[in-house]
Amino acid sequence: MSEKGQEQKRLILVSNDDGIFAPGIRALAEVASEFGEVAVIAPDRQQSAVGHAITVSDPLRVTPFQINSKMEGQAVNGTPADCVKLAHDKLLRRKPDLVLSGINHGSNAGINIIYSGTVSAATEATILGYPAIAVSCMEFSESADLSGAQEATRKAIHYVLKNGLPAGITLNINAPGGPLKGLRWARQANSRYVEEYEGRVDPHNRPYFWITGRLEILDQGDDLDLNVLKQGYASITPIQYDLTAHAFYKKQDKDIG
Ligand code: MN
Repeated sequence: MSEKGQEQKRLILVSNDDGIFAPGIRALAEVASEFGEVAVIAPDRQQSAVGHAITVSDPLRVTPFQINSKMEGQAVNGTPADCVKLAHDKLLRRKPDLVLSGINHGSNAGINIIYSGTVSAATEATILGYPAIAVSCMEFSESADLSGAQEATRKAIHYVLKNGLPAGITLNINAPGGPLKGLRWARQANSRYVEEYEGRVDPHNRPYFWITGRLEILDQGDDLDLNVLKQGYASITPIQYDLTAHAFYKKQDKDIG
């Protein structure tokens, strides 16, 4: 079989957390279509910062959705992780060869990884045994230039198709808006949000609170994702869902006391 014939048979699942209507998922589906057949299965609404939540107490419903003139998708009234689980078990006719999540509108570098629905869709795919890549653009704007994030995605897909990915590892890409300067391996910057809840009063005189905050870097090094991004490059970080603190664990006895 020719190389092209093989590529046409590849199935790529595309999801996100900004919802199936977001420009970022169209941009990602476009890139995916260069590598194979594409299935877009994504939340039917904004699901940013839901992390790895899944829907347990409510039914999931699936609605066909027109992505563009060439591509249809399926919208799910659930979280990003729900979408990947449901795609895996019920919605895809065959198992995907690759799962992509994004392109998120906003950063998923540093501590954002732990809150991110975009990253969790990719992580869920890794848990299910599929190679997976999460992609985010540092610019929130829905009209941001995603061409650099798209090009970084192409490079990462080529890498994964050539080298594969070890079990349990997900790739997390962040790219500045605009054209790609380069894609560099990086580690997650130890960082946290310094947050303030802005208090206001609604028209019925009841107080409400809205989160605001800025990211604080507690780490140093040219190899941090946030610093690679500051230098204008896109970053790619291999991440894992095994949350065991191995170094600490190895130092412990069998029983605590
Ligand atoms: Mn998002």
